[in-house]
Amino acid sequence: MTKISADALVEKIIELDSDDSSDATATNSAQRDSLQTDGPEGASNYDLDADIQRAQGIISENERLKARQKCKICKQAQVGMIFLPCGHILACTQCGPKTRNCTHCGEFIRATANVYLS
Ligand SMILES: [Zn+2]
Ligand SMILES: [Zn+2]
Repeated sequence: MTKISADALVEKIIELDSDDSSDATATNSAQRDSLQTDGPEGASNYDLDADIQRAQGIISENERLKARQKCKICKQAQVGMIFLPCGHILACTQCGPKTRNCTHCGEFIRATANVYLS
């Protein structure tokens, strides 16, 4: 009696375990299914985020380019002078003539020329 009931118990436990696990799997897969049905919305949201990130990247790139075109001396006016002979363009037409040595490479400025950035 005891042995049989023990076997029965073991069987019951195994059944319960397998039932539980299968139930859990079923629940998990059901949750996964519901997530997958939400998938398209999530995907469109993700695409929007990617677009925003791309736009922000372009904006920051533009800002970097604008900053590169700013006079390195007064940091306000747009660059408008090339230092010769080093060839660096980093000063506006106001600061350029006052500069004796290139602020980037330190080379003595022998001549300057106006540059016009399109
Ligand atoms: Zn300047
Ligand atoms: Zn230079």
